[in-house]
Formats: sequence, structure tokens, C-alpha cells
Amino acid sequence: MMLLLLNLKLIFVATTIQSIMSGITTFTMIKPDAFEAGNSGLILQKIIDNGFKIKALKLTKMHQEDAEAFYAVHKDRPFFNSLVEFMISGPVIAAILEKENAVDDYRKLIGATNPADAAEGTIRKLYASSIQNNAVHGSDCDENAGIEGNFFFSHFDRH
Ligand code: ATP
Ligand code: MG
Repeated sequence: MMLLLLNLKLIFVATTIQSIMSGITTFTMIKPDAFEAGNSGLILQKIIDNGFKIKALKLTKMHQEDAEAFYAVHKDRPFFNSLVEFMISGPVIAAILEKENAVDDYRKLIGATNPADAAEGTIRKLYASSIQNNAVHGSDCDENAGIEGNFFFSHFDRH
């Protein structure tokens, strides 16, 4: 029994490492502004229409420590406290997505951080209202896609 469990665990680790290394995985969140505005369905449909497969999905709400940890890279930026407040202000929808070249293709689909600079047709151009309240998160590299996916999901949640 122990050996079987160890084997399963090794297979899971190997699969995870492989999917991170080959760049087919990214992580996204529909942020509280887009959820509150009722745009989650439209955003998920756009993600699917653009060839991303949903591998994991959940509606959840972050606590302050979660948001601080998730955005720790920005802890010295002047907008950090406000960003954390925003991210815990309501539910988010977290998802792991799969597609060839997932991280770059998804960053293209969501558009620039500031919706004023986002290209026509991108998710942020369509649904973001400010540089902070910008509708969605998208991982910025394969390594972070793995870290962020693991932050929200266990292997039981992935299909
Ligand atoms: P994300 O990481 O959420 O996908 P991003 O990679 O486009 O966004 P980052 O530079 O990582 O942008 O910033 C993280 C988040 O912090 C942004 O999505 C936005 O919500 C917020 N943010 C970034 N810059 C500012 C700013 N100048 N003022 C207020 N909020 C900001
Ligand atoms: Mg970022």
C-alpha cells in the first residue's frame, strides 16, 4: 500500500514537472471586480474559445494572509496594501489552464496590466475598470504558473 502511494505520488510529481517544463500550463484568477460585475461566465467562455482547457476551477475567497503571500513579490510597491484589500474584497474564481505556450498566449489574451493600454478585444480591455481593478490575473512565467496553481489546488482538484 505504501509503495503504491509512493508510486502514485512520484507519477504526480513527474507529470507536474513535465507540464511546467513544457510550458503548457498557466494559472488565472477572475478578480473580485469582474466576479462582482457578473462577468465571470463571459470571461470563462472567452478563455475556452481561445483554446485553453480548464484543468482545475474553483470559486473561493482569499484571506488577507493569502493575498499578501500571493502578491509577495509586490510587497514594497506603493499599491501593495490597496491591492491586497481589493483582492480580499470579494470572491475570486481560480483556474489552471492548459494550452501550448500557455503563459504567453494567456498574457496576450488578457492584455496589458492597465486597461487603458490593453489591446482591443483583450479581457482587460473589455472588462477591467482600472490598473488595479483589472478583471483577471495571469501567471508571468512557467515557474510561477506552477507555484500559483499549487497555491490554490491540490492534485485531487486537477482533471
Ligand atoms: P497580474 O499579476 O495580476 O496578472 P500583471 O502581471 O499584469 O497582473 P503586476 O505588475 O504583476 O501586473 O501587478 C499585479 C497587480 O497589481 C495588477 O494586476 C494590478 O491589479 C495591481 N497593480 C499593478 N500596478 C499597479 C499600480 N500602478 N497601481 C495600482 N495597482 C497596480
Ligand atoms: Mg503579475
